[in-house]
Amino acid sequence: MKIGVLEGDDIGREVVPQAVKVMQTAATKSGLSIEWMPLPIGRLAYETFGHTLPPGTLEKLEALDGWVLGPIGHQAYPKEPNAINPHPILRKHFDLYANIRPAKSYPGLPSLHKDVDLVIVRENNEGFQPDRNVVAGCGEFRPSHDMTISVRVITRQGSSKVARAAFELARSRRRKLTAVHKDTVFKLGCGMFAEECRKLADEFPDVEYGEAIVDTFALRLVMAPQKYDVIVTTNMFGDILSDEAAGLVGGLGLAPGLCAGPRHAMAQATHGSAPDIAGRNIANPYAMIMSGQMLLDWLGRTRNEPRAVDAAKRIERAVERIIAEGAMLTADIGGQATTTQMGAAIVAMIDAAQ
Ligand code: ATP
Repeated sequence: MKIGVLEGDDIGREVVPQAVKVMQTAATKSGLSIEWMPLPIGRLAYETFGHTLPPGTLEKLEALDGWVLGPIGHQAYPKEPNAINPHPILRKHFDLYANIRPAKSYPGLPSLHKDVDLVIVRENNEGFQPDRNVVAGCGEFRPSHDMTISVRVITRQGSSKVARAAFELARSRRRKLTAVHKDTVFKLGCGMFAEECRKLADEFPDVEYGEAIVDTFALRLVMAPQKYDVIVTTNMFGDILSDEAAGLVGGLGLAPGLCAGPRHAMAQATHGSAPDIAGRNIANPYAMIMSGQMLLDWLGRTRNEPRAVDAAKRIERAVERIIAEGAMLTADIGGQATTTQMGAAIVAMIDAAQ
């Protein structure tokens, strides 16, 4: 496997190295060889090469199977053309249309709810996000000083692709899929999204299919998240609901994610670059490590490589045990360990396993 490493900004430079160590240890145990390709991105790339996404990066990524992307602190970039936010470009360029964001509670961790195990599959490249829903210009504009117009893009193809990814995921889990939209008001946009989901429901008769209106769903998610398995929704609803789901199970430090496309996938945690805690070795590496775990699992299944699936399982088991033991957890989830200590404990647990 050829896997890129793009550390990103702030806590990205602390949690990505932990994810890579964990992935490498699990791969070695499973007999999987990984060729790592570190690539500069973000503020450090800007300071060294003059671009937050240096020229040639997309071509190098094209030749890889996937990559690990740390969080990007683009809000703090200088306002100039070479200091762009790179991750929407990566998502768009590689057609990473499905953003898969699990939320799982652990018995040993403080959380608002127990027994939660759900996955939000968020459409990743259209919807309301103005930096990626058009090929040129911007999906948000201001015709006059007192008026702003935001354009939301919904296509049949985009909706159908993400719905298929969600049905397939549901089939590999508890076989239950909920499509979340608001076609009662957005009759055309959400209506088209819902139509495409319903068309696929006929193709997946073994998956129990249901729909929920987004506001009602937000309420039910807070009250009874245990009822849900896989959820598919449009870009902005998914962005909001996945943070809400992370909040139900212990916070953003516990929210991994994968952006998957037809040929590549990118491990990218749900959280941002958290400048408020950067440089202190206290960020929770769980989200980034489990994003890497998801990447290995995805690569294993799409490349028909059982050793990658096995490596992913090793990571999952080791993380579960470290959480159950409770001695090596970061402060956000009730422990006192540093980022590096928690990462090292997971590495040691994988090493010690059969
Ligand atoms: P973005 O808009 O880029 O997603 P954000 O505004 O949601 O970013 P984050 O950077 O995700 O903000 O941080 C939100 C809060 O969550 C901060 O207080 C931060 O310290 C905390 N946080 C985020 N990630 C982690 C982590 N891995 N470990 C511990 N705390 C985290």
